[in-house]
Order: sequence, then structure tokens, then C-alpha cells
Amino acid sequence: MSKFWSPFVKNLVPYVPGEQPKLTRLVKLNTNENPYGPSPKALAAMQTELNDNLRLYPDPNSDLLKGAVARYYGVQSNQVFLGNGSDEVLAHIFHGLLQHDQPLLFPDISYSFYPVYCGLYGIQFDAVPLDAQFQIDPADYAKPNGGIIFPNPNAPTGCLLALEAVEQILKASPDSVVVVDEAYIDFGGETAISLVDRYPNLLVTQTLSKSRSLAGLRVGLAVGHPDLIEALERIKNSFNSYPLDRLANVGGAAAFDDREHFDRTCQLVIEHREWVVAQLQAKGFDVLPSAANFIFARHPRHDAAGLAAKLREQGVIVRHFKQERIAQFLRISIGTPEQNQALIEALGEL
Ligand SMILES: *Cc1c(COP(=O)(O)O)cnc(C)c1O
Repeated sequence: MSKFWSPFVKNLVPYVPGEQPKLTRLVKLNTNENPYGPSPKALAAMQTELNDNLRLYPDPNSDLLKGAVARYYGVQSNQVFLGNGSDEVLAHIFHGLLQHDQPLLFPDISYSFYPVYCGLYGIQFDAVPLDAQFQIDPADYAKPNGGIIFPNPNAPTGCLLALEAVEQILKASPDSVVVVDEAYIDFGGETAISLVDRYPNLLVTQTLSKSRSLAGLRVGLAVGHPDLIEALERIKNSFNSYPLDRLANVGGAAAFDDREHFDRTCQLVIEHREWVVAQLQAKGFDVLPSAANFIFARHPRHDAAGLAAKLREQGVIVRHFKQERIAQFLRISIGTPEQNQALIEALGEL
């Protein structure tokens, strides 16, 4: 702390990301990265773009990538907003669309960046408890609010909310923005983007970090009514007009155009998820139903923090959250078959 800080900085509680270890031998199953790597076409597009043009600013509107996203989802370009990772897109959403008199609603067990943004932008919030099975109950959101946000599938539980239930939440709060954070939707869910033309209060966010295996590139997006997108463009152009660099623009567009690589790798993640679930259940773990590229599991006789520490000694890193309600769970990303095997073997050793 220093006397030079703006006063509000003293009270900020920043988000703590999962460890990015410098040791490369570790089996890294802690931050939900995709083990299969980006589309070769995306890599080739970026290699071509790696030239003297880097002296020029990128397209401030990212028209190429917006066009690719719009084509992919069958929407108009003015329904698409892009940012430097969906974390940045979410920051602009909190800032520009979720600051109201009534509290923002989100699940008590959810993406831990949401309360951080509330702190940053001075937004009141009400954490709505998941039910006893760790599911979102749409009825719990039918109350006065200044906005609603939830991941679908939820993080870190991996549980999916059916599209009809999402629609129920939208219908109950027609005067609030409802943000569906679909970081993991491609691993078993159905996107709510199909609803944006019917619900002007719906905003769907997605990221290229998980299903398109481009976490290092930092590209995220939001799709919704042009009026919602315009608010985000105003914030963006008051903050940083060039969030996506030249490589991100061409690499992201090529990633959306390469459906074959995308479909094949998502399918592999799903298959291996089912294998990991079966193996963990055979070892006595309770595993929540997952539609994501990770699973959330607890063992009735082993302390989760202790298990995570022992796995780390064996070179396998998984994520443990200290939050009381989920302190006995481990969140484990789905890796390559070899990595998943290493996890199961390390657990066997314990
Ligand atoms: C990973 C994740 C994000 C952020 O992804 P970016 O890498 O910033 O695009 C957003 N929401 C949830 C729920 C996530 O798990």
C-alpha cells in the first residue's frame, strides 16, 4: 500500500487465477485449458500475419472476426461484441449494463470473478444459493434485481441449465439484462444465442480460451441485441479502442471457420470426460454431472485440500477452492488420455 494509490484501490480484492507453473513436467489439470491445441488453420493464419504490418494498428472494429462470429451463429455483426478474453468483455458488461439500484443476482457457487467486478465497479449483489444438488433453480431468480449473471454450464460445478430454464429466467425479469456466460457451452450444452432475437434483455458471452484452445490469444465475445452491444462499444471506445491485436483478429476468425477441428476436439474432450467420471466413481468419488471440460468431485473419506496437496507432490495439479460450501470438492480439468491416466494413477497411489 502506498500514499500514491487512489483511495478505492486499497479496498479492492482481486481475482486469483489458477497457478501457471513454470515447471513443464507437471500434469496441469487446474485451469480448464484445452489439451488438443488450436486449429492448425488458426496457427497458419497468425503465422502469415506475423509481418511488417505489425507496425500498424489493428482494425479497431475487428470486422473480420465479427463477421466470422456472426456467420457461425447466424446473427448480424452489430449483435457481436469482442474483447481481450471474455474476462474483459465481462468487465465492460458489469460496468456498462449491470450497475443499477437493485442488486445484481448470481449463484453463490459461481465464477469467482463476478464479486471481484462488483467490487471494482461498486455494484451491490445478492448471491443466490444453488439448491441441495448444486443446481440453479430458475424460480430463485424471479425477484427484483438490477441484472442477472450465471455461467452455463456453471463453474466450478460443471452443471448445465436447460435452455427452457434459461428462458424462464429471461421471462421473469424482462426489465433486467440477463447475462449467460457460456465459457463451457461447447462441451455438451446448447447455446442461448438462438434466443437473442426474441429477448432484447439477453446477452450471451463466450470465449475462445476453452473449446477453441486459444487461452493464450485472449479473445472473448458477447452476442445480444444491438442496443446492448452499443453500450459495450461505448465503454470499449472510452477505455481501449484496439483490444484485439492483429494476430488475435485473424487467428480468431480462422478458428471459427475451422469447424472440423473444433467438432473433433470438443468430441474428444467429452469422450474422455466420461472416462474420467467413470474412473473417479469407481474410486468412490461423488461427481457432479458435468457438461464442461472439467469435473467437480468430492470423496466422502478424503479431505479435498489434502488430496490436492498430495496430487501436487505427484506432479498433478488440480484446483481447490476454499469457499466453505465447496471446500470438499476438487475441480479437475479434462486433459489428454495420458494426463487423465496420470491423474487416476496418482489417486491410486494415495
Ligand atoms: C474461463 C472463464 C472465463 C474467461 O475466459 P477468458 O479466458 O477471459 O476468455 C469466463 N467465464 C468463465 C465461467 C470461465 O470459466
